[in-house]
Amino acid sequence: MRITDLIREAGPTVSFEFFPPADEAGSVSLFETIASLVPLHPAFISVTYGAGGSSRERTQRLVERIRAETDLGPLPHLTCLGHRTTDIDRIVDRYEALGISSILCLRGDRPREGTEAPGDFTHAADLVAHVRRRSPGLEIGVAGYPEGHPETPNTLVQMEHLKAKVDAGADFIISQLFFDNRAFLDWRERCRLAGVAAPVLAGIMPITSIAGMRRMAELAAGTRFPAPLMRSLSRAGSDPESVKRVGIHWASEQCRDLLDHRVDGFHFYTLNKSDATRRVFENLGIVDSAGLRSP
Ligand SMILES: Cc1cc2nc3c(=O)[nH]c(=O)nc-3n(C[C@H](O)[C@H](O)[C@H](O)COP(=O)(O)OP(=O)(O)OC[C@H]3O[C@@H](n4cnc5c(N)ncnc54)[C@H](O)[C@@H]3O)c2cc1C
Repeated sequence: MRITDLIREAGPTVSFEFFPPADEAGSVSLFETIASLVPLHPAFISVTYGAGGSSRERTQRLVERIRAETDLGPLPHLTCLGHRTTDIDRIVDRYEALGISSILCLRGDRPREGTEAPGDFTHAADLVAHVRRRSPGLEIGVAGYPEGHPETPNTLVQMEHLKAKVDAGADFIISQLFFDNRAFLDWRERCRLAGVAAPVLAGIMPITSIAGMRRMAELAAGTRFPAPLMRSLSRAGSDPESVKRVGIHWASEQCRDLLDHRVDGFHFYTLNKSDATRRVFENLGIVDSAGLRSP
């Protein structure tokens, strides 16, 4: 079933994001993680797309394996920087042959060192327009940034770029992770005011360690870490289990509040682990995420 149909008919969706492991041990552990999240009945699980050649092939192989070994619907990520149109067409054809019905179209990050390979696309909107033209039946998701994308000069321009992706044919939006619901809810309202009507899934990442939080801050530059969260983390001090409890409690409260504000769905950045995500659901009293519509 299409993700947008699920949102419309069954209410907020839950989805989990994974990255393709680099080795066999990582694969074994990932499939254990996936198995432990299956009882929550996610609407889909997404698979990130790496910057380098071998990691890109790993994405496609992982999507194939999820398709073959589980009943879950994979949502492959696809980035376009450094890709020729023929590369994109080959990948999309491979996914369509597998019966994949939705894909997340992204630009990707520029390499930190060296120059990027020449490609036919500049912005995610170019990729969306191309995939929409070539595969009219495919459902397309795009990324949104409640607290701004680091390269965008201001939030008005940022909104124009998001609207361009939706106007080019995107069906839904997955947000960058955030810890401040007010920032997300305000941005969601600004999306509606700008005429961006596509459903928006909220990106949630429970903090599980201080080192992990620092990595997140680097990956999602611009994300605010609210003072009450930092106060709780500082009270937790150097005890890893207390830090994790604070992170899980914060994410649980975020989700509870977002449900009250009729969020379209939650997209959990899992880092290939299930424990924190499962504990958020326990805190919310949810044993099965299918049909989360608020009473
Ligand atoms: C949910 C989610 C999943 C992600 N998954 C991956 C992944 O699997 N692999 C990966 O490598 N990265 C991933 N990323 C990171 C993403 O690739 C980077 O944030 C990237 O820098 C921007 O991608 P985008 O698709 O948002 O690009 P775009 O929408 O093209 O935006 C990129 C920048 O260009 C600006 N821009 C857009 N259009 C124009 C225009 N016409 N003129 C001038 N400027 C413009 C935007 O405002 C923005 O600053 C993900 C991000 C999110 C939020």
